[in-house]
Amino acid sequence: MKSGIPASLLEQLRQQACATPEVEICGLIAARDGQPVRCMQIRNIAERPRQHFNMEPREQIAAFRQLREQGEELFAIYHSHPDGPATPSATDIREAGYPDALQMIIVPHQDGRVDISAYRFRDGRAVPAEIDSPDS
Ligand SMILES: [Zn+2]
Repeated sequence: MKSGIPASLLEQLRQQACATPEVEICGLIAARDGQPVRCMQIRNIAERPRQHFNMEPREQIAAFRQLREQGEELFAIYHSHPDGPATPSATDIREAGYPDALQMIIVPHQDGRVDISAYRFRDGRAVPAEIDSPDS
């Protein structure tokens, strides 16, 4: 089953990941009535932001407050892997703050294209989830 992420939203993720290809970007995707509608980038304050992400706590709280106020729900958590791969790391799975959310990973390429993949974490493992690709 495809999640039906709008192309404009995937394009925003592409632009964010390609804007700083040397550090992981991260954020939340909000849904309304189960349909993903927008993404909110959150500053990555990890000590080694090329290898990890750690959402700036106040921005994260503000983003969740905005979700609630607008009657939206959390659809996905996303972050990029500047050096690949398009699969979650062991750390991603271990430290997932919202294990029930869809997890999206964006890998930026030098030519401006990206690979975007989605997973759900179950019992300490990453299970692939299908999404519409930007090329489709
Ligand atoms: Zn990761």
